[in-house]
Amino acid sequence: MIQFQNEYVTVFESALFRTTSTVVITEDLVLVVDPNWLPNEIKEIQQFVAENRKNRSLYLLFTHSDYDHIIGYKAFPEAKVIVSEAFQNNPEKERSLQEIFRFDNEYYITRDYKIEYPIGDLIIKKDYQKITFGKTNLTFYLAPGHNRDGIFTIVEPLNVWISGDYLSNEEFPYIYYSSIEYEKTLGKVENILDKHEIKMLIPGHGDVAFDKAKMLARKNENLEYISELRNSLKSGKKINLEKLWEKYRFPKVMTRFHEANVELMKKEIEGKN
Ligand SMILES: [Zn+2]
Repeated sequence: MIQFQNEYVTVFESALFRTTSTVVITEDLVLVVDPNWLPNEIKEIQQFVAENRKNRSLYLLFTHSDYDHIIGYKAFPEAKVIVSEAFQNNPEKERSLQEIFRFDNEYYITRDYKIEYPIGDLIIKKDYQKITFGKTNLTFYLAPGHNRDGIFTIVEPLNVWISGDYLSNEEFPYIYYSSIEYEKTLGKVENILDKHEIKMLIPGHGDVAFDKAKMLARKNENLEYISELRNSLKSGKKINLEKLWEKYRFPKVMTRFHEANVELMKKEIEGKN
């Protein structure tokens, strides 16, 4: 289940949607990010944390409130929780929970922990907010667009960027909240790469990237997708889906996400969103 591992960072990858769960271990803390999906997968992450935690403080970070990312919250009941202010004030908490219940019901899944919406202990309110634990620094940036409450997290001095559901090589932008906000969030990418010596980018789905050029290429592809889609809707000229499926491997499910993007952006163009 491990996609990548070094002395400090372990990236677990679920069999579902290539969703990542990241565990960062420094001398100051253990940080668990978005533990997910299936019970045995979460158990593997729990075991890894139990074996390696020693006497360090345990933190849980949620990159955003989509149900797949919060599904393992109560598997780490003693952890302190880091989320954005928008995550904390999410008006649709109940919807995220219902999606978990529906998923578990559909696949006969039982869990040995409770399903609850995460309650934050440390709340991220603005760009460049920092939290320091000994020699470990976390710097946060707000990342709305995909949904309303995403955050980017930079872990230093490891120079790791945990990007949530942005900058994936496996998915084009899934826009549930706002294409304009999505573009603004991607607009932060170059600034982040200038400010921090990023050595590793960990997206919520897909492959870790080590190369700055690759990170920028993902950003540019994402921006292109959004602007092409917007232009196509404005001009009535159809977007080239064949080209999209050359790059993204799961057209069957992804067509649904693309069509949802179309509906959301149509509303935006008509001024209804
Ligand atoms: Zn996701």
